[in-house]
Amino acid sequence: PQAPSSVVKSGKLVVAGVTISNPDKVLWPAHDGEDPITKADLVRYYEAAAERILPHVADRPISIIRAPEGIGGEQFFQRHAMPGSNPRLKLVDVKERKPYVSIVDVGGLVAIGQAGGLELHPWGCKPGDPETPDQITFDLDPDEGLDFADVIAASRVVKAKLESLGLPPFVKTTGGKGLHVVVPIKADARSAVSWEQNKAFAKAVSEAIRADGPDRFTTTLAKKARGGKIFIDYLRNGRMATAVAPWSPRARPGAGIAFPLSWGQVRAGLDPKAFTIRTAPALLKKADPWAGFRDAAVSLKPGLKKMGV
Ligand code: ATP
Ligand code: MN
Ligand code: MN
Repeated sequence: PQAPSSVVKSGKLVVAGVTISNPDKVLWPAHDGEDPITKADLVRYYEAAAERILPHVADRPISIIRAPEGIGGEQFFQRHAMPGSNPRLKLVDVKERKPYVSIVDVGGLVAIGQAGGLELHPWGCKPGDPETPDQITFDLDPDEGLDFADVIAASRVVKAKLESLGLPPFVKTTGGKGLHVVVPIKADARSAVSWEQNKAFAKAVSEAIRADGPDRFTTTLAKKARGGKIFIDYLRNGRMATAVAPWSPRARPGAGIAFPLSWGQVRAGLDPKAFTIRTAPALLKKADPWAGFRDAAVSLKPGLKKMGV
């Protein structure tokens, strides 16, 4: 981790070269007796975590949840650059009329924090190539009333299914109620698949898992279909779909972050609320369980064949 580069110049806070306005603005109010989290805390977090975050967000179109007045104020998804955007942010063309925002370096990440950007939701594409998927996300969404233990058990079912298909599953918390099981796939010219294939594969695997455990899993989006089940949300895998990035904060009480885990951590007693902006300094000192994420990527083509996609 780099030494913090924040300096206070004539009363102004500058982090990674970005001047921070209203650094004392409270973004997450005090929670469970803990101190409030300010914009200064957020941008310092982004700077400290940049090395871990950037491989998962850089050079991809990104949606940002902004809450300039904090999590109690108005929140909105921002996809496109606005006039006057910080020059540390880049634009990426995605065929649609308006280019998307993208981050290339720590300064861009801090610029997002400066603008009250609390959550980072990238496309699942190859960096610099929005038309090519490079990962598959199985977003496990438990029905209300289910325990986190049920989500843990579900993630292990998804893991086993993916391994049986020769795919390497990684797992992260979301900073919310569920878990994401994510598979890195090769995106070089020989291995690349289309967005349609990527999503069709995720759907086929999800439906096979449901067929094996119809009382535990559903693949139907409608909340009323959940009835005590886990919704395997495969819809994260089409073009323009997003999922929260590893290490992204969440604009929810507690300032939780989406946290990459090793499978050994995914067992009884795992408390996803333990991973927050407040606990991040200690978390960043530990080895990254996702350090091998990109190198573990395999071609999806054999998997497509096995699933008949
Ligand atoms: P949880 O564990 O609480 O489900 P989550 O991040 O998986 O957390 P979901 O509601 O399942 O939350 O959403 C999955 C993803 O879908 C989000 O991370 C986000 O990237 C995307 N998403 C959700 N709502 C929107 C929206 N209104 N606009 C754009 N993308 C969205
Ligand atoms: Mn989810
Ligand atoms: Mn979902």
